[in-house]
Amino acid sequence: MRDVLIIESFKNNFCLENYLTKCSTFTAKKILFFRTGHINLPVSPYNNDINIDKSCKLCNSDILCDEFHVLLSCKALEQPRKNILKLPKNLSTPNTYNFGKIMSNHKLYNNLATFINHLSSLFSNV
Ligand SMILES: [Zn+2]
Repeated sequence: MRDVLIIESFKNNFCLENYLTKCSTFTAKKILFFRTGHINLPVSPYNNDINIDKSCKLCNSDILCDEFHVLLSCKALEQPRKNILKLPKNLSTPNTYNFGKIMSNHKLYNNLATFINHLSSLFSNV
C-alpha cells in the first residue's frame, strides 16, 4: 500500500518526465534508478523475499528501509541530507507530499542525484 502511495505522490501522468530531457545523463540516471527501485535498498520492487529483514540497518530501527525513509526520515542520513541534498526548510518534514515535491522539483535534481549516488554507495554492499 505504501509503495503505491509513494509512486502516486510523484508520478501523476503517464508521460516522459522532464528530468530525463533537462538534466545531465548522470543526474537523469541517478533519479531514474532511485524512482524505479534500482539502488539496492532492502525494500524494493525487485526484492520479494519475505525472509529478508527489510528494516533500516543504517539507523538500526525497525522502520522499513525504502525510498521515503532514506530520502526524508532516516536519522543516520541527517548529515548527508543536510550537506548534499540541501532541502529547503519547507520540504524537509517527512511526509508523502514533500516526497512528491522533492521528486518533481527540477531545482533539486543535481543535489538529489548526488544524494542518490551517496545512497548507492551505502547500499552497494548491504
Ligand atoms: Zn534508517
